[in-house]
Amino acid sequence: MVFHMIFTSVDFDAPGKQQGFLQVPYSHNLGGWANVMIPITVVANGKGPTVLVLGGNHGDEYQGQIAAMKLARELAPEQMRGRIILIPSLNFPAARASTRLSPIDGMNLNRAFPGESEGTVTSQIAHYLSSVLFPMSDVVIDIHSGGRSMEFIPCAHMHLVSDLDQRKKMLAAMLAWNTDFAFIYADIAGTGLLPVEAENQGKLVVTTELGGGEAIPASVHSIAQRGLRNVLIHVGVLDGKQETRSTLGKLPSILTQALNREDYLLAPESGVFEIGFELGTRVNRGETVGWIHHLERPDRCPEPIVAHSDGYLVTMRAPCLTQQGDCVAVVAQEVAIETLTGP
Ligand SMILES: [Zn+2]
Repeated sequence: MVFHMIFTSVDFDAPGKQQGFLQVPYSHNLGGWANVMIPITVVANGKGPTVLVLGGNHGDEYQGQIAAMKLARELAPEQMRGRIILIPSLNFPAARASTRLSPIDGMNLNRAFPGESEGTVTSQIAHYLSSVLFPMSDVVIDIHSGGRSMEFIPCAHMHLVSDLDQRKKMLAAMLAWNTDFAFIYADIAGTGLLPVEAENQGKLVVTTELGGGEAIPASVHSIAQRGLRNVLIHVGVLDGKQETRSTLGKLPSILTQALNREDYLLAPESGVFEIGFELGTRVNRGETVGWIHHLERPDRCPEPIVAHSDGYLVTMRAPCLTQQGDCVAVVAQEVAIETLTGP
């Protein structure tokens, strides 16, 4: 048994539906014996896979939090086989504050893995996932969006894991979200990510970037909620008929990848960012995809942001006001699935 200080008010081995909390000790000025209480729902019915559904890894990304809350209310044991564990707002203090990072310890949960059993609140949450929840799960679904800082074309996405069998399962589950675009990404900003820890434990990991910014259109909520249900049907934990792009009357998802550092376009200086194209537009190498305007020197020509390859504009910075080094756009190249699944 791994040591941890988080108390769990649900029994992961019990059948039926339970609603409870993960309780993380948090002693502060006005609460000497306080706990951070993270809502958790467990629904179990006999034999089948265990699927962990996570929203709010970043607190300001509400698409997945709403999808997981609705599913947690709606799910009944007789609709499924196996076990679904739902944590709608994983970084709960950040979700309450609408921030990417925890307001308690300033940490980014998605850079805190594998975590520490006696670390800060965020580090303890990471450690509990790494040592308790991932080992009991077959599938880990971590629903992100761009939060307040980025706006994505709504897409399911993944890392190109080296294990080919794991990679094929992840590709199929990514495509089961039925988004117009699917996106293979690289980590250009640090280590300690939740999906990397779950991938290293051999899990089938499904992640998303479902839009972003602060106003979420109804169509994006629909992509989050229908996609989540369809992936749960795809992995065999939820009853129902799996939808495909074809049964929905849509063209196949456009599979894209951005695996090179230069695909991630960073602001060379601070200013006000203007995007030149709609998300999802195909752009050419050398083409200007946006500009940084100079508030203090409007007479100066704006600084162009130039695509380094042919590809699709998959994300842009959400706030116009930009600091040097902010990622303002990503151009991802189209890739054929056959080139990713090996011989
Ligand atoms: Zn995120």
